[in-house]
Parts: sequence; C-alpha cells; structure tokens
Amino acid sequence: MPATDASLMPPPSRTMNFNAGPAALPLAVLEACRDELVDFGNTGMSIMEHSHRGAAYEAVHHDAIARLRSLMSIPDGTGTGGYDILFMQGGASQQFAQVAMNLLSPGASAGYIVSGVWGEKAVSEARAVASQSGATVHVACTTASSTPGAPSEASLNPGRWGGDAKYVRVPDAEEVALAPTDAYVHLTTNETIDGVQYATAPGAIFPSFGTVPVVGDMSSDIAWRPIDVRQFGLIYAGAQKNLGPSGVTVVIIRRDLVEAGRTDIPVIFQYRTASRNTSLYNTPPTFSIYLMRQVLAWIGNLGGLEAVEARNRAKASAIYRVIDAFPEFYRCPVAVDSRSMMNIVFRLPTPALEEAFVASSEAHGMVGLRGHRSVGGIRASLYNAVEPAWADALAQLMHDTATRHA
Ligand SMILES: *Cc1c(COP(=O)(O)O)cnc(C)c1O
Repeated sequence: MPATDASLMPPPSRTMNFNAGPAALPLAVLEACRDELVDFGNTGMSIMEHSHRGAAYEAVHHDAIARLRSLMSIPDGTGTGGYDILFMQGGASQQFAQVAMNLLSPGASAGYIVSGVWGEKAVSEARAVASQSGATVHVACTTASSTPGAPSEASLNPGRWGGDAKYVRVPDAEEVALAPTDAYVHLTTNETIDGVQYATAPGAIFPSFGTVPVVGDMSSDIAWRPIDVRQFGLIYAGAQKNLGPSGVTVVIIRRDLVEAGRTDIPVIFQYRTASRNTSLYNTPPTFSIYLMRQVLAWIGNLGGLEAVEARNRAKASAIYRVIDAFPEFYRCPVAVDSRSMMNIVFRLPTPALEEAFVASSEAHGMVGLRGHRSVGGIRASLYNAVEPAWADALAQLMHDTATRHA
C-alpha cells in the first residue's frame, strides 16, 4: 500500500528534504508565511518587527502555547497535576545543562540512561553542572557496548556498526540502576544519530521509575504521535525537527518541579522565570514562535496527532519494508523493536556503494541522506513535515538500487 495520495504530491520543484535538523517545513506553512511576511494581519509591518509586548505578537505567542497544549493534551492543573509550556532559547543543548542547574541540589543525584550519542552529551553537561553544585550524576544504564537484540550476522562492512554493536536498542526499565538520592532520571526518547527510539509500538508507554520524575530529550520525536505527557516530569525539544524552525526550544515541565527548582542560579536559567512570565521575561525568538504556531496549526489541519502518527508510520514502513526485503544489500543495525520511526539508519554493502547511493539520491531531487559524520552510512529523517510521497520515492530508489546489484 503506497503511503501517498497522489493529490497530496508536492510540486516537482520542491526538494525532497531528508535532513536531520533543521529539517523540512510544510509547504503550506512557508507559503502562508511568505504571504504575510511584510504585512502581518494588516498591521503594515512584519511579525518580526512587532514588539514582543504588543498585542499582535502576544496573540501569536499565547495561541502557540494554547495549540501545543491542546495538540499534546498537556494537563493544566496545579502542582503535580499540571504542566507549564515554556519557550526557551539555546537549543536542546542548553537544556542538557539547564535541567541539572534547576533540579540538582547539593547532595542530590540524577541517573542518566544513555542509548546514543545525544544521551552521552546530556550526561556530560549534567556532570559539569553537578561538579559545581555538590551534586552527582551517574550513568544508570548504557547500551554503548551491549549486544543483546543486535543483528547476529557478521557486519557487511567494517566500521561503526561492525563487531560490537553500539547503541542499537533502547534498554528495558529493569536494566536501569537508580540511586535513592536520584532527583530525576534522564532519557533520550529518540536518538537522532543512532536511529534508536523508545516506545515505537502502537500505544506503547515509556518506562516508569516509580516516583522519580522522568526527564525526556524529545528533540527529534516530539509530537510524532499522541503520548501521555504525565509519564514525564519534564520534556524538552528544539523545534527544528518536528515542530518548526530552529531558534525556539519547547520545555514542558510539571508545575511542582518548576516550584522546587533552585533559586540560587541566575534568574535567566530558572524555569520559574519563564513560567511566571509566560516565556516573555525577555525577548523571545518571536519569528520562530510565529512559525512554530503555523506548524502546530498545520498539524491540527491534518487531523491532529492520531493522523500524524498514521502518516509517519506509513512513511517509516515504506523504507523499512525495502530494507527487510533486501537483507543481502541493506542492513539496519537497530533491533526491530527499537527502530526509529523518525530517523532510519542503514548501510549498503560497501562505502563506495553508499557514496553512489547518495549521489543517485541527489540526482533524483533528494537531500540529506548521508549519515551523521560520526557514524557514516545512510540516514533518512522522516519528520512530521516530510511528505509521504518523498518516502515513497526514496523507497522506490532503494528498491531499484538493490535490484540492480542483485
Ligand atoms: C538535534 C538534537 C539535539 C541538539 O539540539 P540543538 O537544538 O542543536 O541544541 C539534542 N538532542 C537530540 C535528541 C537531538 O535530536
């Protein structure tokens, strides 16, 4: 079954963008943005030129928050029953530090689940913060060198995924060793570089650790499907993969954690500052928030997160189906139940064939398929705004390439 309805085909001039981030944006959003770029809502000026304290921008700002709350069904109660939605800057990378700055008091600790390259960065930044604040950070579980679940056949070509399989699955909750002093446990819901994702099965839930709040780096899979936000104490995500352009980072934080956050760090880094000021303490990235709001409206028009999930699953299965149909030619190193629906990583038999494949994809109007420089291979990022027709075109190219070499 093709993932595409021909009427949804983008115009042929549009590049098929499989970039890992910044990534594809919906054409309808870009066109709407173009149409009102120099004159927003008959104000005679661009949204970029409006004061962040003015009525025109404030309406956009509050509507973006309201749309995200409704789309992701983010609870609005008090204490542990409610979550604030904050718009920050500095990217997910800043959150690596900011989470620890707010949530780690002297004597406290945090456990990190490391299932890929981004998890490594998160724990390393948290350690730097902890060493300043008399707290500790420990790796509660890592899949850096474990092989269970990894494909058992010998690697088709040497390199990153040969021999000892690194970061090819998400761990089970039982493998995670927390300490009694842990203030939170951190995990990366989707490892963008390694192509490893939590909770991909329909309706799957995230691991739970009793009363210890889970902090999730959801940069590359926020809003790919409906989830129960209450499984997390804090979620953060740079917008530039699934929600919009770079420049704004979404933080969804349980209200009791905002209140419990440290007060002896600079106010600009305290979550309570953004919370008390509805992310208008200082100048927010107004244009990024404006564009994210348009993307949220576009997701609503598609039919919300249930519809987006169906669309995303269709795209991912179009690609995985070809990988599985040609096991002598394509190899996805990731355990089947941890395979990412957002970033599909795979290898061809030789680096030369991979180079030829990238060149051929470019000749077919596709960009962004070269794997991350640290791991090589091929990576197809299939975020919300990637058209089903593009995934079909890529699947066709993969099919034709494998058939030609059979
Ligand atoms: C892209 C990404 C980051 C880094 O995001 P920045 O906004 O560039 O800081 C962190 N974590 C994950 C999982 C990512 O995909």
